[in-house]
Amino acid sequence: MITMSDSKKLIYAGKAKDVYESKKEDEVIVSFRDDITAGDGEKKDNLQGKGHCNSLISSKLFEILEKNGIDTQYIKLISSGFMLSKKLDMIPLEVIARNIATGSLLKRFPFKESQKLNPPIIQMDYKNDEYHDPMLNDEITIALGIATQEELDEIRAITLKINKILSEFLKEKGILLVDFKLEFGKDKEGKIVLGDEISPDTCRYWDINTLEILDKDSFRQGQDNVMDIYEQLCGMIVEEKDIKNWGI
Ligand code: 5GP
Repeated sequence: MITMSDSKKLIYAGKAKDVYESKKEDEVIVSFRDDITAGDGEKKDNLQGKGHCNSLISSKLFEILEKNGIDTQYIKLISSGFMLSKKLDMIPLEVIARNIATGSLLKRFPFKESQKLNPPIIQMDYKNDEYHDPMLNDEITIALGIATQEELDEIRAITLKINKILSEFLKEKGILLVDFKLEFGKDKEGKIVLGDEISPDTCRYWDINTLEILDKDSFRQGQDNVMDIYEQLCGMIVEEKDIKNWGI
C-alpha cells in the first residue's frame, strides 16, 4: 500500500483529491482521498474505501475513453487510490453534460424532473469557490481569458464524444448516465486533454431498470448507505479480478 511520504511534494489539495509531484516533471500522482463533501463543502464526511472505489472507477473509465481515441491525463493506476497522470495546466471550467434533467437544472429552469434531454445539454460553469461556480456563456469565458472560442468549440465536441462513449459503455453494465462534470487541461504541447476524475462524486448514475441512485446524490440526500452504493457501482463497472487485484 502506497502512502505519500514527505519526499513527495503536494502540488494541489482539493476537496476529495490531492495532487503530488512525481519522479518525472511532466507527470503527477493523483491521490483519491476518502473525504466526501457537498454543497460547496458545507456537508462533509469521511467514508473508508471511497478513495479506492473512485480511483478504480475513474481509471476504468479513462481506459475506455483512451481506447476510443480521447486524450486523457491517465497513465496508470499505481496502487488502489493512487493514479499516475500527465501533468496538465488545468482550465478553470466545470464542463457539465446532461442527458436527463435533474439537479440544479430544475432549480434554475422549468424542466420536468427526469425529462430526457436530446440532444444533450452542455453547460460550462466557472470553477471558482469564491464565486460559487457560476454558469458561464462563451462571451464571458473569452473575456475572462479562460479559453478561446476555438478551444470552447473543441471542448464541447470532445465532451459530446465522451458522453456517447461512456453512455454506451455504462448502458451495457446496466447504468444510465444521467449527467456528469468534466475538467480539462492543456498538456506541455498545449493540447486539450481530459483531466480530473470520472467517478460517482462527479457524475449521476442511475440503475437502468429501477432508476435507483448509484452516486453522490445518496450523500447529498443524507442516505446512510453511501459507501454501499459506491461499492455496488464499483462492482458494476470494474471487473471482479481488478477489484481483487487492487485490494478492495
Ligand atoms: P448539478 O449542476 O445538477 O448539481 O450537477 C450536474 C452534474 O455535474 C452532476 O453529475 C454533479 O455531480 C456534477 N457537478 C457539478 N458541479 C460539481 C462540483 O462542483 N463538484 C463535483 N464533484 N461535481 C459537480
